[in-house]
Amino acid sequence: MITRFAPSPTGPLHLGHAYSAILAHDMAVAAGGTFLLRIEDIDQSRARAHWEQQIYDDLDWLGLTWETPVLRQSDNFHVYAQALDTLWEQGVLYPCTCTRKDIQDALSAPQEGVSQIGPDGPIYPGTCRPSGRPSGQRPNAQTLRLKMDTLAAQAPKSAVSFEETGLGPNGETGVNATNVATLAATIGDIVLARKDMGTSYHLSVVLDDAAQGVTHVVRGQDLFDATTIHVCLQHLLGLPRPIYHHHKLIRDSAGKRLAKRDDARAIAKYRTDGASPADIRKMVGL
Ligand code: GLU
Repeated sequence: MITRFAPSPTGPLHLGHAYSAILAHDMAVAAGGTFLLRIEDIDQSRARAHWEQQIYDDLDWLGLTWETPVLRQSDNFHVYAQALDTLWEQGVLYPCTCTRKDIQDALSAPQEGVSQIGPDGPIYPGTCRPSGRPSGQRPNAQTLRLKMDTLAAQAPKSAVSFEETGLGPNGETGVNATNVATLAATIGDIVLARKDMGTSYHLSVVLDDAAQGVTHVVRGQDLFDATTIHVCLQHLLGLPRPIYHHHKLIRDSAGKRLAKRDDARAIAKYRTDGASPADIRKMVGL
């Protein structure tokens, strides 16, 4: 078993991160497997070296150990570019010039019974989607979207099912099957390359999980809905499919999910206040 914890160095780790990291670590150790740490810093405008250092310090203090060297996604932009070339040659990508506002305006006349929000935010109305296959060289420094209808037309049903050993937000567990035919309507043409980054969370995470041989993706329930996007990409890129284990989210006393800005719950804060790693385990129910 190979598990991983994949934080972004954009703020302090809080109790929710501690839970996720300890769970992924303990699952690997119990199975005699390997625990990996991956730094997800594709958003270079928000990633900071001191937050990355804090991640190492916090996890070390919690008593976790991981394989080195640690994969840092910002060292991997060439890998993501290569995968985009492959998808471009498959004819499943197209450039999009819409702004957030363009999309909002196009969606402002809601159609009854049609969902406008998918796992990746507002479902793209298709303004820039070409009817045919885009030709020529893949454009650089441009937003690229995935033509979900081509996937829906060519993929077998099993292409987008995955095994869940944890729990989705609505108690989903076991084999999770999605109807490929409805992907275009329920997820829409998601962004695979952001203009300012040359990649996206979805593309990078899928490529790195495969390259690192991750067998069990352990992460929060907030990412359960994104998993269908990830399995679509695994299908298109011919990548192996890990088992998914989504876990509960740690909430504050008002029931609100913890966020990076909730500094009060930062692991470092508990630590300076005198808590022990065992206290942290107890607080998150491990
Ligand atoms: N980097 C993501 C985050 O910090 C987690 C990615 C994943 O586990 O798939 O929320």
